[in-house]
Amino acid sequence: MRLKGLNCVVTGGSSGIGAATVRRFVEEGAEVLIPDIDMEAADRVASELGDAVSAIKCDVRIEADVKAAAAIAYDRWEKVDVLVNNAGSELNRAYDEMTEDEWDRVLNTDLKGPWLMCKHFVPPMVKAGSGSVINISSLNGLVGFPLSTAYGGAKGGLVVFTRDMAIELAATGVRINCVCPGVIDTGMMERWTDLMPDKNEAKKMLKGTMPIGRMGTAEEVAGAIYFFASADSSLCQGSVLTVDGGFTAQ
Ligand code: NAP
Repeated sequence: MRLKGLNCVVTGGSSGIGAATVRRFVEEGAEVLIPDIDMEAADRVASELGDAVSAIKCDVRIEADVKAAAAIAYDRWEKVDVLVNNAGSELNRAYDEMTEDEWDRVLNTDLKGPWLMCKHFVPPMVKAGSGSVINISSLNGLVGFPLSTAYGGAKGGLVVFTRDMAIELAATGVRINCVCPGVIDTGMMERWTDLMPDKNEAKKMLKGTMPIGRMGTAEEVAGAIYFFASADSSLCQGSVLTVDGGFTAQ
């Protein structure tokens, strides 16, 4: 129960890595608020986990939604201890075939979203002199892939955004760090393999890209997120932790 008494916010906590993080935080004694666009799924997670979890409809691309989520969180709790910017949107598209709407959807969800969440959730943390923000980037934010300019651009931007914020916040008592998952078996991965001509072959290929020979699980990524939420990471500021089965070690 290392997070007992802590108030945590996990965007996109209704599925995949976000839902595994919500479960892990609750196991460790935290209360969690899930801002998500998929209210049906978010409510399912909340009712499964009982009183410790609640959900609110919030599109992280829209400032009014984020502002309303912050108002609800700070109305309910005196302080927010942990913010996980997990909500994400993927796209596999050639740079010259992508539409402006597709580019905007990915950049606005994966990069503008974390900035808006920080803008509205972090100042009260600074006032309180403590807090931990965890941004979920990707190995696409660290190395190049084909068909990944929007997603990779957003996730790479999030890595540098984390470092810039870490310097701005360094003397405030608020920590901000970044987790870069590799190939993780979630709905996002299912959607990506659905687009391939042979789904099973695509999954085999993905497993093969991971030096450990398998995809990661959402729970394994949640473990890394939990580390940054807990006091064990007290010296981490602007850290970028790869959780990718050795991919970026190659
Ligand atoms: P996921 O299951 O699709 O979860 C993403 C969640 O974010 C969903 O609940 C989604 O709702 C929500 N969301 C999307 N757009 C949103 C918005 N504008 N506002 C609020 N919520 C929004 O995918 P996941 O694999 O767990 O991904 C979680 C994070 O890890 C993402 O940032 C992703 O980029 C990153 N990541 C994943 C992998 C991987 O292999 N799976 C690898 C590296 C990094 P809907 O379901 O309604 O869209």
